[in-house]
Amino acid sequence: MTIGRTFLNGKLLVGYKRTNIESWLYDGAPILSKVSTPDVPTDKFLEFRKQVGNAIREINTNSAGKDLVAAYQNIGQVYEVVPSCGGGFFVPACDAARGAGYEFVDGCDGVISWDPVTGFKDFPAWVVLAHELGHAIQLHTSGKSAQGWFNEYGLNQQAIELDNIRRHETPIVQTLGLTPRTTYP
Ligand SMILES: [Zn+2]
Repeated sequence: MTIGRTFLNGKLLVGYKRTNIESWLYDGAPILSKVSTPDVPTDKFLEFRKQVGNAIREINTNSAGKDLVAAYQNIGQVYEVVPSCGGGFFVPACDAARGAGYEFVDGCDGVISWDPVTGFKDFPAWVVLAHELGHAIQLHTSGKSAQGWFNEYGLNQQAIELDNIRRHETPIVQTLGLTPRTTYP
């Protein structure tokens, strides 16, 4: 396996080319399988890498986002970011997630799916990526195992989301002069 471009000191990987990325849909709870041979990335994939880079730059130039990036790098985990066609999600690598159909590439602690084009409500798309990075921070500062967190998410999605929104999304949204959300989604 080759690793393409990495971001955040190698803690966020883009560059494992997976097949069927065109058809990944948020609502369909994408099953991340069929890791392809990452020889020559498609144009779309190269574009996605660029979009991830731009998003990280946006997050980093936001005063609250800078703190989030630092916190993400501090947890020392490696997540893979893959494209989606609407919305984003975060899944930590664990047997429960594998049992639910997710597959994870070697060397990654989980996967983040992100739509580089469409934001959420009036939030720009990069805020959604920041939100997903927030979940990684949330998990790895919780003292829980990946599996423990994944299972708890299934039981207490609202509480976990609202906590992530309050701690990681709202500070960024406020610096943009936008109205933070108080409900999920
Ligand atoms: Zn979330």
